Amino acid sequence: MTDGEHRGGSTGFGLEHLPYGVFSPGRGSERRVGVRFGDGVVDVGALLDDDTFRQPTLNAFLAQGPPRWAEVRTRLHEALSDDRASRSLDHTRPIDDVTLHLPFAVGDYVDFYSSIEHATNLGRIMRPDSEPLLPNWRHLPVGYHGRSGTVVVSGTPITRPSGQTKAGDAAAPSFGPTRLLDIELEVGFVTGGSGNPLGEPIPVKQALDHIFGVVLVNDWSARDIQGWEYQPLGPFLGKSFATSISAWVTPLEALRPYFVDGPTQEPPVLPYLRAAEPRNLDLDLSVELTPTGGAHAYPVSRTTFRHLYWSMAQQLAHATANGATIRPGDLFASGTVSGSEPGTMGSFIELTWRGARPLDLADGSTRAFLEDGDTVTLRGSTPDGIIALGDVAGTIEPARY
Ligand code: MN
Repeated sequence: MTDGEHRGGSTGFGLEHLPYGVFSPGRGSERRVGVRFGDGVVDVGALLDDDTFRQPTLNAFLAQGPPRWAEVRTRLHEALSDDRASRSLDHTRPIDDVTLHLPFAVGDYVDFYSSIEHATNLGRIMRPDSEPLLPNWRHLPVGYHGRSGTVVVSGTPITRPSGQTKAGDAAAPSFGPTRLLDIELEVGFVTGGSGNPLGEPIPVKQALDHIFGVVLVNDWSARDIQGWEYQPLGPFLGKSFATSISAWVTPLEALRPYFVDGPTQEPPVLPYLRAAEPRNLDLDLSVELTPTGGAHAYPVSRTTFRHLYWSMAQQLAHATANGATIRPGDLFASGTVSGSEPGTMGSFIELTWRGARPLDLADGSTRAFLEDGDTVTLRGSTPDGIIALGDVAGTIEPARY
C-alpha cells in the first residue's frame, strides 16, 4: 500500500474515488476546481498546469467528454499515488481550510420518480382510494422539469417556504409557512460531452457515455403546498424553493465496479428503453436528523439505490426520446429512493405515513415533519465503503414571509 492509498483509503475518498468539486482556499480567493483526496483538496489546475480547472465551475471540463475525463483521471492517479512527488502536496489543502461551492452551473434540471416502492407508498398516501401506481408508471420513467436556479450546495441553509395550502376540510385555501416540510433522498447524475443534436434521441445503450458522474440530492418538498397545487400539471412551488446537492461529483468511472442488475421490469419495456445489464448502481444511502439545538444526530432511514426500477440510462434515453437536447451540466435526479420496509424510506411523508406515525427520537421528542432549526444530512457510499459520495446537509431556517 502506498502512502497515498493509506492517506485516503479509510475515508471513502481514496485513489479509487477522486471526486471533483469547486473550492476557494481562503476568504475572497477565486473559485477553482479541486479533487477530494483523503482529508485534502487538490488544486487540479495548479497540479496539472491546466486552465480547464482554473475556473469557477466544472462545466468546461464536463464539456470535454469521456476520453478527456479518462485522461485526466489517469494523470491524477499518477500524480497522487506517489507521495514522494511533493508537488501534489504543494497543491493540497486540508478540507477544513477551504470553502466548497456549487460544483457546476446547473443547466436543465429534471427530477424523476423512479423508485417503485416510493411511488407505491406515495400513491397509497395521496390517493388512498385508487390503485397506487398510475397506468403509465411501469411503461416510462415519470418525471418533470424542475428549477435549476435554486439548486444549492450542501450546507446552504434552507428557508421554510410559504405558499398556498388547503386542508382537506377547509372551505378555502390560505397562505402561510408550510407545515409539512420534508426531504427527498435522491441520487442525481450530471451530463457532459458533446450532447445530442436537436431532434436526435440518445439511444439507451449509449446513454452512460453522456454521464460524467453522480451527486447525492435532497429534493426538499413542502407536502401541503404540493398536495394542493400539483393537479393537473405536477410539482411546482412545493419543490422549486430549494434542491441541495453534494459538493462532490463522483465520476461514473469510479463507480464502474459497482454496477449490478436492476429489478425485472414487468411488463417488458418498449425497445427504446431496453437497457443492458448490469444497469443499476449499488449504493447504500442513509438519512440522519439532528434536531433543533440538539447535540445528537439520529439515524432515521437506511436504504439502497440498487433496486431502482428505472436506471440512469433509461432515464436519459427517455428524457431525449422526443429529440430534446442535453447540455454539459444538466442535472437528472432519481426521485425519492425508498424501500418497502419501515425505516427504509427516503422521505418523512413515508416514514411517518403523512404524520400519522411520528418518529420517536431518543431525546424524547417526536418528528412528523421538519421543524425550524432541524438539520438533515444525507449520506451515500458503496457497500464496501471504498467510495463515499459527498454528504448533503441542510438546516431549516424560519419562514420570512
Ligand atoms: Mn423529488
